[in-house]
Amino acid sequence: MAAEVLAAAGRRVSVFEAMPTFGRKFLLAGKSGLNITHSEDYGRFRTRFGASNGRLAAALDGFTPADIRAWAEGLGTQTFVGSSGRVFPTVMKASPLLRAWLKRLAEMGVTLLPRHRLLSLTPGGGLFETPDGEREIRADAMLLALGGASWPRLGSDAAWVAGLRHQGIAIADFRPANCGFDVNWSDAFRSRFAGEPVKAVRLTSEAGVTQGEFVISRHGVEGSLIYGHAAALRDRLDRDGVAALQLDLAPGRSLERVAAALERLPARTSLSNRLRRAAGLEGVKAALVRECAPAIAEADPAEQAAAIKALPVPLLRPRPIEEAISSAGGIAWAGIDAGYMLTARPGTFVAGEMIDWEAPTGGYLLTACLATGRAAARGIDRWLDEGSGVR
Ligand SMILES: Cc1cc2nc3c(=O)[nH]c(=O)nc-3n(C[C@H](O)[C@H](O)[C@H](O)COP(=O)(O)OP(=O)(O)OC[C@H]3O[C@@H](n4cnc5c(N)ncnc54)[C@H](O)[C@@H]3O)c2cc1C
Repeated sequence: MAAEVLAAAGRRVSVFEAMPTFGRKFLLAGKSGLNITHSEDYGRFRTRFGASNGRLAAALDGFTPADIRAWAEGLGTQTFVGSSGRVFPTVMKASPLLRAWLKRLAEMGVTLLPRHRLLSLTPGGGLFETPDGEREIRADAMLLALGGASWPRLGSDAAWVAGLRHQGIAIADFRPANCGFDVNWSDAFRSRFAGEPVKAVRLTSEAGVTQGEFVISRHGVEGSLIYGHAAALRDRLDRDGVAALQLDLAPGRSLERVAAALERLPARTSLSNRLRRAAGLEGVKAALVRECAPAIAEADPAEQAAAIKALPVPLLRPRPIEEAISSAGGIAWAGIDAGYMLTARPGTFVAGEMIDWEAPTGGYLLTACLATGRAAARGIDRWLDEGSGVR
């Protein structure tokens, strides 16, 4: 995005990428349809970035969800609004958009250099590993957009952290975001239900109350319902050492209704029949109750109803960052000026997930990455105009 803005402003731009091809994580995001932005009211959209809402506002205002849709359309990719308000390309993949985008950049005169890995920053640029060996490349201004720390095998391996810290740049440790969690499932539960979706349940955490579905994994829990609560649950685990999902397995029935239905059943009714007849629970949902409330069979109807409506599922830890959709942490805002320049390294700018912000899934991540890329490009353009960068 930055390359596109700078080339349009008449700057000479080269893009260096460590991997043999560009945009691998963008392509992976395309495997689940490429949720590129969100159609909700823009005032609401701007509040999805937690502590970074204020710092990201100007960049988002400069490239709104509507702008993203128009930009994609300009590259031949029509978009549509899914039932959840999320926006996707109609082709539900990223490759045509990425192909058209790289073609446009090349036509604008941008030099695209894959297999060029930035090894370290030098006073006037950077030292790169290239197919022809190590080379120092100098530039009037440089933008780092090296990504966060999730899915490192796609390229964003956060190997840059130590070098930048050495230069006095404050960087918050990377932590998994939009991630699953480990749960100490019994062997019997794991072998029977791993891979099974748990549909139409309500989840409560410090992040609020949402309804949706998640998946039982071999290690624990994952899926969209969990990701929306992942930051709150991860922070709780960090802070208190304990956290649990609080699940309402029968969101369509009130606690009183479930309790009254259980009360009416004859005392000798088996637990399976009680769960099915009073709350409609079968299969994985009934098994979850047995797994997480092992004394349920002996409990009285009020306690049984409470377990069905607010089942605690204790979490051990987030899944490793290698598996997370995104990462929290990165370069601290305090060291970045309004034009996205590192105050400790005039002439070096930053954008994307390598900055310390996080957001839920829903298209917010790509939107903010694209928007900060454009904002940083405007910062670079201004800085060069002021003559600060011209050597
Ligand atoms: C499975 C999955 C699905 C996702 N789905 C969505 C989605 O639907 N919607 C959404 O909004 N977000 C989604 N995301 C998140 C989104 O893809 C990322 O937030 C976004 O790609 C980050 O963009 P970025 O440019 O900051 O970093 P990246 O896309 O990670 O790009 C950084 C680039 O820098 C390169 N690089 C790193 N170090 C060096 C170096 N030293 N020298 C040279 N190059 C280097 C890397 O190879 C990489 O290509 C998904 C993520 C994953 C893992």
